[in-house]
Amino acid sequence: MERIILHKDQVLFTEGDAPTVAYLIESGEIEITTSRAGERLVLSTLISGDLLGEMAVIDDAPRTATAIALSDCVLFQIDRTQISERLAGTDPIIRALLEGQLKRYRGALAAMQGKEIHKNDTDTASEKLGIGKIRLESQLREALNTGGLDVRYQPLLHVQSNKVAGYEALVRWNHPERGPISPVEFVALAEETSLIVPVGEYVFDTACAAVKTFIEHGADPKPFIAVNVSARQLSHPGLIERIVARVDAAGLPKGSLKVEITESQALNYEMVEKVISLCHNHGIKVALDDFGTGYSHLTHLHKLAFDTMKVDQAFTRSMLEHPRSMAMVKAIVAMAKAIDADIVVEGIETEAMLQALRDLGCDYAQGYLIGKPQTLEELLG
Ligand code: C2E
Ligand code: CA
Ligand code: CA
Repeated sequence: MERIILHKDQVLFTEGDAPTVAYLIESGEIEITTSRAGERLVLSTLISGDLLGEMAVIDDAPRTATAIALSDCVLFQIDRTQISERLAGTDPIIRALLEGQLKRYRGALAAMQGKEIHKNDTDTASEKLGIGKIRLESQLREALNTGGLDVRYQPLLHVQSNKVAGYEALVRWNHPERGPISPVEFVALAEETSLIVPVGEYVFDTACAAVKTFIEHGADPKPFIAVNVSARQLSHPGLIERIVARVDAAGLPKGSLKVEITESQALNYEMVEKVISLCHNHGIKVALDDFGTGYSHLTHLHKLAFDTMKVDQAFTRSMLEHPRSMAMVKAIVAMAKAIDADIVVEGIETEAMLQALRDLGCDYAQGYLIGKPQTLEELLG
């Protein structure tokens, strides 16, 4: 950062100048002025610790005011990349909020200066992105309240008995314009705010009701339903406690509800440990999802008393072509057995894959061969 000395009455920049840098006042006072009908108008007086000139740098527009030193000043010059790189790395919604505020401020200033106001300046690309995201979030909130979310159930085959033992609940959003949106997209969006809390509760409530419906229809064996929760979701205070309370209130047979912890980001192992023990106290089994793909550091896994390991379809896909893949699946199965965990292999699409699982002694198979995610009505036939 370059240090600048400004003497009393010296002008730092003038209204209409091109924006090059912003400044941080180290010492001294600076007056920001504009003119209205030839009259000089003081907008503010800035002191040590204040930023100035950042506005024009943010939106790359000419300076809207003049800055003059009221006393001798020391300033630090802030390069525009210091600002633009930070802005680029921030949430598009924050950028849209900032740009919206700037636009409004410029409008108010222009009105005060008696200048023509440019109505409806077109939105910048980043503003559009941020606003698109806010819109999607509002639509998701609405969908939650108006039945626009939906849960599909994908069967898990018990390999030994060749019977469907349970289902994985997979949430869907039937978007009015875009059609069904993958949870990969909107779960991440919901996770950014507390919106994930009601989404999670909706999935759990729906899954609990589905367990009851299966039992009422005489499903044999009585199936379990596994519900996904992301590690990020679990870090919302009180979320898992509320979920467990709802499962208790549903009064399901023990073991009929499972939780799959997906590892969308680095697992907070201590938190996951607590979640597992809370679930166990309430008869809920816990699976570690997408094993071997994300952040399941082996050094931490010994501390986590999960009941099931789910092998990601990334392994399964290449299992039959590549002996090394097959060897890895074999080793993962052996590891699961050694720590007394069940094993589910995902992405089973062919009879040959299923046969391979039989040969490996896997507990459960999941994939399009067994069944695609379906609605409850479809499954009850
Ligand atoms: P996941 O838990 O690994 O779920 C399995 C995904 O693989 C599902 O995608 C499923 O439709 C797909 N799949 C299943 N069998 C096959 C197969 O044989 N071949 C192929 N190619 N794909 C198969 P989906 O439903 O789009 O879900 C994506 C992810 O979204 C899930 O991955 C899970 O991490 C997350 N998710 C789904 N529902 C929820 C939820 O209610 N809450 C949270 N937090 N996350 C959820
Ligand atoms: Ca899952
Ligand atoms: Ca998975």
